[in-house]
Amino acid sequence: MSSVEEFRAEIRGWLKTHLSGSFAALKGRGGPGREHEAFAERLAWERHLAAHGWTCVGWPEEYGGRGASIEEQIAFHEEYALADAPARVNHIGEQLLGPTLIDHGTEEQKARFLPPIRAVEELWCQGYSEPGAGSDLAAVRTRAALEDGRWVVNGQKIWTSLAHESQWCFVLARTEPGSRRHAGLSYLLVPLDRPGVEIRPIVQLTGTSEFNEVFFDGAVTDAANVVGAPGDGWRIAMATLGYERGVSTLGQQVGFRRELDALVTLARRNGAAADPAVRDRLTRAWTGLEAMRAAALHGTDPSAAKLYWSHWHRDLGELALEVCGPAATLAAGAPYELDDWQRLFLFSRADTVYAGSSEIQRNIIAERVLGLPKEPRP
Ligand SMILES: Cc1cc2nc3c(=O)[nH]c(=O)nc-3n(C[C@H](O)[C@H](O)[C@H](O)COP(=O)(O)OP(=O)(O)OC[C@H]3O[C@@H](n4cnc5c(N)ncnc54)[C@H](O)[C@@H]3O)c2cc1C
Repeated sequence: MSSVEEFRAEIRGWLKTHLSGSFAALKGRGGPGREHEAFAERLAWERHLAAHGWTCVGWPEEYGGRGASIEEQIAFHEEYALADAPARVNHIGEQLLGPTLIDHGTEEQKARFLPPIRAVEELWCQGYSEPGAGSDLAAVRTRAALEDGRWVVNGQKIWTSLAHESQWCFVLARTEPGSRRHAGLSYLLVPLDRPGVEIRPIVQLTGTSEFNEVFFDGAVTDAANVVGAPGDGWRIAMATLGYERGVSTLGQQVGFRRELDALVTLARRNGAAADPAVRDRLTRAWTGLEAMRAAALHGTDPSAAKLYWSHWHRDLGELALEVCGPAATLAAGAPYELDDWQRLFLFSRADTVYAGSSEIQRNIIAERVLGLPKEPRP
């Protein structure tokens, strides 16, 4: 057996044994559009994973990880999804901030922040987007200044996923007054459970809230809590985005496969499969998923991959409502109870927006892959 197969067998066996008893009820809970589901129980599950060394498996051993290779990490995410294990609650800490600190943090920052991420004792959120700075992130206006050995932060972030469950936020802030665009920004680690921080949940189309507005009004963090040099925040922020694309794609595709299989079963059962147009779309969905899997295994341009999976998933949401029939346009219960297909239809609209919108991905492909003229910048 290769080491990857051994690793796969180990996590598969562990999940079989441990995703049982009270944890069995967590199967399939949480995830995009459903982050509110059983959050406290999923937190307990993730701490259980941590206690057995199954968080941060891709981190180097010296920081509490398993030093798992890319292939082993893919195996981990696939097995995790195949077991229908609950969606992770601290993926932002584990997959975004952790790798950023390992590559760019000071030894003191690593010693302070990595162990509680690994143990799932501190949850993190990502404070990049602002009302006037989304796709155009360099327009960030939140500002911070060093006063009496502390950074004092003022401004507003928006769409901050899971801020309401997090203790810390990594914040991109302007620290050089009068600086423009990418210059003069810093990457600050800011505690949220202090005065001067207000978190307001945003109610989504799905009726639930998983992202927030975060207001900083004189919020403070220690002078040492800047990653990289002050003013070098853009470079660090881009490094973090690089980890975002990570290795969990194949795990995500296991989830897509489960949704598609369930939809095919429903179409067979309710007669929708008799409609040639529905059969055609189901077949296309299957083919698209095969293409995605092949592309993920062989490596592909990240912008092309993001464009492809997000549109595939959005199309699946539309097809799901078609298969369900006209009644699917009505909520099943009051005040706004959605079934899984309705939630898929609504939340998959977000897929083409977060982690870089489709238009931005096309701009990147146009400029960096096809060598077309750059669009004018402000
Ligand atoms: C579910 C979800 C979770 C999120 N979580 C987080 C989070 O945790 N932390 C965080 O910081 N942010 C988060 N975001 C925010 C996300 O990063 C932004 O929504 C995204 O960057 C787009 O920015 P915007 O919403 O300001 O839209 P805008 O940038 O205002 O774009 C509006 C429209 O204009 C288009 N557009 C913009 N610029 C161009 C251009 N140059 N050429 C062509 N078209 C263009 C866009 O594609 C889009 O269709 C999240 C978003 C979603 C949907």
